[in-house]
Amino acid sequence: MARNVLVIGGGPAGLAAARALGRLGVSTILLEKDGQLGGNPIKNHYHTLIPRKLKPSQVIGPYIREVEQNPNVKVLLNTELTACEGEPGEYRVTLSNGEKHEVGAIVVATGFEHFDPRRKGELGYGLYPDVITNLELERMFSQEGRLYRPSNGQLPKRVAFVFCVGSRDRQLGVTNVHCCRYGCALSGLQGSEIREHYPDVDVFCYYMDVRTYGTWEYPFYWAPQEKYGVRYVRGRIAEITYSPADGRLRVKHEDTIVQRPAEVPMDLVVLVLGMEPSPGTKKVAKILGLAQDPDSQFLVPSDESGSNIVSNKPGIFIAGACKGPIDIESSFSEGEACAAEAAAFIGAKVAV
Ligand SMILES: Cc1cc2nc3c(=O)[nH]c(=O)nc-3n(C[C@H](O)[C@H](O)[C@H](O)COP(=O)(O)OP(=O)(O)OC[C@H]3O[C@@H](n4cnc5c(N)ncnc54)[C@H](O)[C@@H]3O)c2cc1C
Ligand code: SF4
Repeated sequence: MARNVLVIGGGPAGLAAARALGRLGVSTILLEKDGQLGGNPIKNHYHTLIPRKLKPSQVIGPYIREVEQNPNVKVLLNTELTACEGEPGEYRVTLSNGEKHEVGAIVVATGFEHFDPRRKGELGYGLYPDVITNLELERMFSQEGRLYRPSNGQLPKRVAFVFCVGSRDRQLGVTNVHCCRYGCALSGLQGSEIREHYPDVDVFCYYMDVRTYGTWEYPFYWAPQEKYGVRYVRGRIAEITYSPADGRLRVKHEDTIVQRPAEVPMDLVVLVLGMEPSPGTKKVAKILGLAQDPDSQFLVPSDESGSNIVSNKPGIFIAGACKGPIDIESSFSEGEACAAEAAAFIGAKVAV
């Protein structure tokens, strides 16, 4: 039995696994296919995180620093798994940098990718500059520090959030019927931020139903309405068009409460993107022979174990958004749980 662990993916889940393994004194290799650690929240410059309204550097930064400084953890950036042979406890892995290692256990934390809104042509993304994604809105806040219409650089008068883009959508087939879990809450926060900083800007949220689960209900659903005046409209968007006459967008939808179609002028439309398994998740699933959900393609745990982080392959554990939409704190927890399972699997004598 090899006494080390391979962690694949340097986002919140993989960082938490590597940090916990390093703390336990277990020799760990952390692979990240990109040139920096931190996963989607750091790479894509998320602005303020739900639920604690902290910056990604505050939440994920401490994990990155500790992993980089722990001598038990070897971080390999720009590196992927290319092959895996051998038996549980003695997996022989080949990496894209040419290195080969024998490892006792593997933690897979390869995460998700954002839904490509061009697949919903009727929403006008890529066609009209003032239709943007919530990811682009996050970058506008975090990198440019102001709200504007990309078409003319001016402050919008009316902003619409369109929920569930690429989520809960049976028109896209079985692959995208899952809920993204973060979208309603993040939109509540982003809408509140807009109203707080620009009280003259009207904000509308178009939803099917609002899913701000657990303790997120007050701060990210009621407070946006009661404290900040964000308006919620129940209706599925049929189409977004552009009117050259006034240079504004038109949001066409059926208001499902009053049951009539409506067409509303907007200056900026923000698409709330769904989460899909990352290409890395699909690739690693093939190399390691991991079970995937036949519809969504996210990784699924083994039925026998009862645990949600134990894969169908002994000695291989799965954490975070490679298993489906999940928030950062839960990704940390799953990474840490995988570290405990991996350490137990290799029979590590942990440092106390
Ligand atoms: C727009 C948006 C905003 C969000 N905002 C919040 C929020 O405010 N609060 C919150 O709690 N959650 C939020 N989330 C969810 C949050 O992004 C996820 O919970 C979190 O990123 C999951 O972490 P992860 O490590 O599982 O995956 P990821 O963040 O996707 O990280 C996976 C890492 O693995 C790497 N990787 C992939 N394949 C390979 C491979 N083959 N080899 C090596 N490395 C690989 C990737 O490059 C990446 O660095 C948001 C999601 C979206 C879409
Ligand atoms: S969290 Fe909200 S926006 Fe995301 S899919 Fe679920 S209902 Fe839609």
